[in-house]
Amino acid sequence: MGGVVPGRVRVRVPAKVNLFLRVGGVREDGYHDLVTVLQSISLHDTLLAVLDVSGASAHPAARRFMGLCLTVDGLGAVPTGEDNLALRAARALMSQVGIGTDRAGGQHEGPVTRLHLTKRIPVAAGMAGGSADAAAALVALNHLWQAELDRDVLRELAAELGSDVPFCVAGGTALATGTGTSTAQVLARGTYHWVVGVTDAELSTPEVYRAHDAVGTATDAQPDAVLQALRTGDAEALGAALHNDLEVAAMHLLPELVAKRDALLQAGALGAIVSGSGPTVLGLAASAQEAVALAAAVESMFDRVEIALSPAGGPEVASE
Ligand code: ATP
Repeated sequence: MGGVVPGRVRVRVPAKVNLFLRVGGVREDGYHDLVTVLQSISLHDTLLAVLDVSGASAHPAARRFMGLCLTVDGLGAVPTGEDNLALRAARALMSQVGIGTDRAGGQHEGPVTRLHLTKRIPVAAGMAGGSADAAAALVALNHLWQAELDRDVLRELAAELGSDVPFCVAGGTALATGTGTSTAQVLARGTYHWVVGVTDAELSTPEVYRAHDAVGTATDAQPDAVLQALRTGDAEALGAALHNDLEVAAMHLLPELVAKRDALLQAGALGAIVSGSGPTVLGLAASAQEAVALAAAVESMFDRVEIALSPAGGPEVASE
């Protein structure tokens, strides 16, 4: 850590969509092998990180300790304790840079970092909201604590926190393999207009994978058509090529998703797909104007409808 300088950093971190997702066999570690094309989308959470040194002891030993706390507001219910992925990421970064956790009432009280998370990304909805928040914490605290870790080190920390976290640190468009942590950026032209259909019911990712093993069929789908559509910026071709092996499992657990996807298609979407492990359903529109019309047409089918653009960048940092 370069030094303890009070400050504030605000990071906006986008959600992700899987434009293509093929689920392979179960590996020895229990995870499935994946091939997926990920793109970040403008729907975002915001993490504010504030370093408060006002109560810190002047003793040199205090510099090795840091208090950490988290508050959350916005949409959806997420854990606010140590299970929150933003806090887990903060702890991982602390241990990487050799900062200990402040001992309550300890002799050498250190500074305190206060995190405040504002959720807009639907929770347990297949849009990697938790992973995005973990990525936001890594990027925000790397700045705030002047840790100066490069993106490669951040990516290694990210891979230990969850399979979508390395992608969320980078943003953009990527082809991911393995458990999803091995990512390579791919060429993507154009801007895509989405209607994001949110359903309040949550689907747990492990449960969807279990349903996939029970009722899903193995496909040998390839990402080539999606990659080609992205290379040429062809929204119509992208709509036709969208593919998600987990869709059958998500629809098995929540049959109402079939009617939701069909409503988007009937209202003129170029393509519609369950996002990741669901239950969010995405409709691709031909233009910004079409997205507004599509959102209005399907609004009554969902608990919430958002309009979003892809690709978005990676976590966006603003120092205050
Ligand atoms: P996945 O990345 O596995 O596809 P998801 O996108 O479907 O997950 P998330 O919104 O990441 O879903 O939530 C998954 C679980 O993680 C939730 O049950 C939630 O309780 C927990 N969680 C922990 N921290 C967070 C966070 N900061 N934001 C959202 N969920 C969190």
